[in-house]
Amino acid sequence: MANITEAEIRQVVSQVLNKMQSAPSTDWDSTHYGARKFVGIYADMNDAIKAAEAGYRAVRAMSVEQREKIITEIRRLTREEAPVMAQLGVSETGMGRVDHKKAKHILVADKTPGTEDIVSNAKTGDNGLTLVEMAPFGVVGAITPSTNPSETVICNSIGMIAAGNGVVFNPHPNAIATSNYAVDLVNRACKAAGGPEVLVCSMVKPTLESAGIMQSHPSIRLLVCTGGPGVVKAVLSSGKKAIGAGAGNPPVIVDDTADIAKAGKDIIDGCTFDNNLPCIAEKEVFAFRNIADELISNMLKNGAYLINKEQADSLAKIVLEEKTSKSGKKIKTVSRDCVGRDADVLLAKIGIKVSKDIRCIICETGFEHDFVQHELMMPILPIVRVDNIDEAITLAVKAEHGCRHTAHMHSKNIDNLSRFAREVETTIFVKNAPSYAGIGFGGEGHATFTIAGPTGEGITSAKSFTRQRRCVMADSFRII
Ligand code: NAD
Repeated sequence: MANITEAEIRQVVSQVLNKMQSAPSTDWDSTHYGARKFVGIYADMNDAIKAAEAGYRAVRAMSVEQREKIITEIRRLTREEAPVMAQLGVSETGMGRVDHKKAKHILVADKTPGTEDIVSNAKTGDNGLTLVEMAPFGVVGAITPSTNPSETVICNSIGMIAAGNGVVFNPHPNAIATSNYAVDLVNRACKAAGGPEVLVCSMVKPTLESAGIMQSHPSIRLLVCTGGPGVVKAVLSSGKKAIGAGAGNPPVIVDDTADIAKAGKDIIDGCTFDNNLPCIAEKEVFAFRNIADELISNMLKNGAYLINKEQADSLAKIVLEEKTSKSGKKIKTVSRDCVGRDADVLLAKIGIKVSKDIRCIICETGFEHDFVQHELMMPILPIVRVDNIDEAITLAVKAEHGCRHTAHMHSKNIDNLSRFAREVETTIFVKNAPSYAGIGFGGEGHATFTIAGPTGEGITSAKSFTRQRRCVMADSFRII
């Protein structure tokens, strides 16, 4: 029998320890997961920023090859620990589906661009050579949502590190353990790839106050905010360069030239992905009157459950809460107890018992119904019948509320497809596929969980987190 070297024993022990630490644990909070204490988590935002500055200095000193090594390790660990993060995300937030969250992590690992996204430009002419390089901002302050917590932290980290930045996160308080698990994963990957111990940082207890410190701190050169309208408005008023990835209310049009069986399946698949948490997911359907019955019957074949008007109205009273705004106006907001919940759990709230095979609640409504007007982020899909493409586009554009986020259409009529795409002006427009094709899941193109419509960066990637720098050499360095 061949002798086993000490190095080989160490490797086996380390693999076993890693496996043990990756096994699901019920003992976790914002500072640890099982026996593993998270690295890069601070009680004070000022300390977190200081550590992120040190991280930035370390990244600056690295070669691009070294940065890419760290990113390769982040990808590897993300794939390996996707089941743990998916489980933790659902346990902590009570939202979404473990299988889909796992798929979202794999998507981030496989399709978030790395350093290859950073491309320099050269211009030569009679007056010599001008070089334009994409430089880091420095320390980025990132605010992340509860809906894709670890996915966003990892996706942002890959892009921001590829661009040469340090990062400090102020994650959503309801998803802080899951977000900090991802921060720790990035730091573990960094160390394993020969980098510093702390590259990205986060908070033990993020608050609006810690977000405020981050927004006004002189060391933070770029703010990247992924969340609802409130937080996007806050960072855009900060006086700093900010990337805002805000809310959407993606409409779907189905006209009478579409493959209706496929449209029914695609819409339910997209709408129910992670229980409708992704901001790009189908939120309301405008179906041509002459194909609406066939569309509904195909949705029913694919795990949908049809409720009537009275049932829809009762459910609306539960999933939306009436509140009074600071200015005294009556407003409706989604109930946090209902966001991202399974369809059978939501149906049980109005006394309907169904099996777990039911993954979506559908109902016919008018345009003004709350289900059409509000971004629910639940597997509830209202269907509005329309007479023609003019009515469909007018209503779908109105339902999108000018977010310019995402819209979908199922059709084989290229005039209709082109018209809706032009008129809705969204960052993402998906034709004849489930919504997630728009972020690289079964569609071409890279993935992101930060879709910056309001500030225009679109499907963000490493180059979105860079600033241009120009270097001019007059009259020389031309080789022709
Ligand atoms: P949220 O708006 O409740 O919170 C987002 C983050 O902002 C959290 O970290 C929260 O603590 C923080 N925050 C909230 N108000 C703030 C303020 N005034 N100042 C500083 N920080 C503040 O979002 P959520 O419920 O976790 O996520 C769902 C929302 O985010 C939906 O509207 C969804 O469409 C949107 N979203 C958009 C994208 C995108 O890429 N465009 C991606 C994911 C989620």
